[in-house]
Amino acid sequence: MEQNRLRVMLVDDDEDDFVMTRDLLAEIEGKSIELDWASTYEAGLEAFGQNNHDVYLLDYRLGERNGLELLTEAVASGCKAPIILLTGQRGRELDIQAMEAGAADYLVKGQIDAALLERSIRYAIGRRQSEQQILHMAYYDSLTNLPNRSLFQDRLCQAIALAERHHRKTAILFLDLDNFKRINDTLGHRVGDLLLQGVADRLANSVRKSDAIVHQSPGLADTTVARLGGDEFTILLTEINQIQDAGKVAQRFIEILSQPFVLDGHEVFVTASAGIAVYPVDGVDVDALLKNADTAMYHAKEQGKNNYQFYRRDMNATAFQELSLENDLRRALEHDEFELYYQPQLDIRTGQFIGMEALIRWKHPKRGMVSPAEFIPLAEQTGLIVPIGEWVLLTACAQNKAWQDAGLSSIPVSVNLSGHQFTQRNLVSTLKSSLDVSGLAPQYLILEITESIVMRNTDATISLLHELNEMGLRLAMDDFGIGYSSFSYLKQFPLYAIKIDQSFIRDIDTNADDAAIAKAIIAMADSLKLAAIAEGVETEQQLEVLRELGCGGAQGYLLSYPLPVEEATTLLATQSQANGVDSARGNY
Ligand code: C2E
Ligand code: MG
Ligand code: MG
Repeated sequence: MEQNRLRVMLVDDDEDDFVMTRDLLAEIEGKSIELDWASTYEAGLEAFGQNNHDVYLLDYRLGERNGLELLTEAVASGCKAPIILLTGQRGRELDIQAMEAGAADYLVKGQIDAALLERSIRYAIGRRQSEQQILHMAYYDSLTNLPNRSLFQDRLCQAIALAERHHRKTAILFLDLDNFKRINDTLGHRVGDLLLQGVADRLANSVRKSDAIVHQSPGLADTTVARLGGDEFTILLTEINQIQDAGKVAQRFIEILSQPFVLDGHEVFVTASAGIAVYPVDGVDVDALLKNADTAMYHAKEQGKNNYQFYRRDMNATAFQELSLENDLRRALEHDEFELYYQPQLDIRTGQFIGMEALIRWKHPKRGMVSPAEFIPLAEQTGLIVPIGEWVLLTACAQNKAWQDAGLSSIPVSVNLSGHQFTQRNLVSTLKSSLDVSGLAPQYLILEITESIVMRNTDATISLLHELNEMGLRLAMDDFGIGYSSFSYLKQFPLYAIKIDQSFIRDIDTNADDAAIAKAIIAMADSLKLAAIAEGVETEQQLEVLRELGCGGAQGYLLSYPLPVEEATTLLATQSQANGVDSARGNY
């Protein structure tokens, strides 16, 4: 409402009243007042629906119907302006009814003069404004001016009711900035706040422009984007035709946010991850939809951030489990929860040890032993594999050196390298420092790599492998046979051994195909002058077949389980006593 311009709507079936009201309003000084008139219940209802007056004057008697009914209907349909009820005579009961129905004031027609009308209108508008302010504070986020969680929940509830009635789908996007904390920590909270405001503006503007995919229903248009708190935003998409459309919208938001923000002279880049839940497939109430969109968002984070994911039923358990596992994993190094086990590799012909593979174990304070198959992928996704891998390298090198110093071992230790470690620029310096610090000679360290590592970026990988080889380290291809490496590539890699994947060994004594594959791998290794080591040897029969096929080395439960340091030490001591350390040296 402009300060000096007032739009008043009179709903009254009596023309005399209209004329009287117009004359009274004309007496009010200092304001330009526009009076509109609706003479029937229906016309009044329409006027309330249009919602473009600053105040409504509503006659109690409207032909057959009564003004109280219309008042109730207007308030229920969301009329924002104050409504003043006009009646023929004063009655205490009517007064109470009017107030309860939501009237701002109550005036008796015969007693109204210009001053009273002006005062009533002024108070009604003033009160309504402060009510609106309080409501705004309760329902809008003060930083971004976007709807807050309460209002979003209300709107979502309405949208669900509408979708149910019209058999439509409604989707919510749960959007969270990636690494927001880092921006707050490095550039300060002021820039963090500016960023949240910038993000809010971009999201809201983009929704306002509204494309063909998102048809906003009028009542929801301004409350579609909300800030739930922190760096979490939600977007309500009503009336989506196809579930995929929600994905398109999510992608668009992610792209919009990827443009740099200029905040306080800083150019700030952010990405966002989004989760999508769709009514009614992913939930039929507010809580379920919000929770599931949130779960899907966490999944997007785990998929490497800067992407969106649709909720899937099977996400629930794993996403939350992984999330808490991720937090625990972050602390595991400081809390000294990792341990290396060592599994010996044997020369099949002589039965002597030819190496020890270091296998990481995580002693989780609550879950007990967690398998590397479970946490290594998580460590890779989160980048935690880098510090963990450094710890493994140093620990394994130091252990092997300790065994050598105790006169127990002259065999190499094998350490598994994951793909992520392999792409770290400082891999070479990490390796050098592990050897330096531990004092282990490089020929006593073998790095186990997988086909997926070397096939990813062959040129860069080949030169890195050569660099490692020139340092005096040896390289073994782990889990061989399940990846995609071709023989011609293998020739270019400076490998020392190929480890035949357990899946070919499991049925090697019963399945002719597996035996044929193992045989081919062994023959190829021979021709490339590489050692072949069979993994996962569990039975005498398997070992026998491998021996017949001419396989040089074996590793598996039959020969020894992976052992904690003390037991591995005892085992080494037993063998070195029986044979003398020198004869324990492998053939490779
Ligand atoms: P891998 O390098 O192929 O290690 C061999 C896996 O087979 C080990 O599982 C070992 O315990 C298991 N194994 C040994 N003998 C037998 C057997 O006779 N039968 C069967 N069924 N399994 C046998 P583990 O220790 O659970 O490790 C799983 C994988 O986790 C490893 O596969 C390796 O890829 C990865 N990993 C383990 N430690 C590390 C580490 O320090 N760094 C990295 N990057 N990866 C690691
Ligand atoms: Mg291995
Ligand atoms: Mg393996």
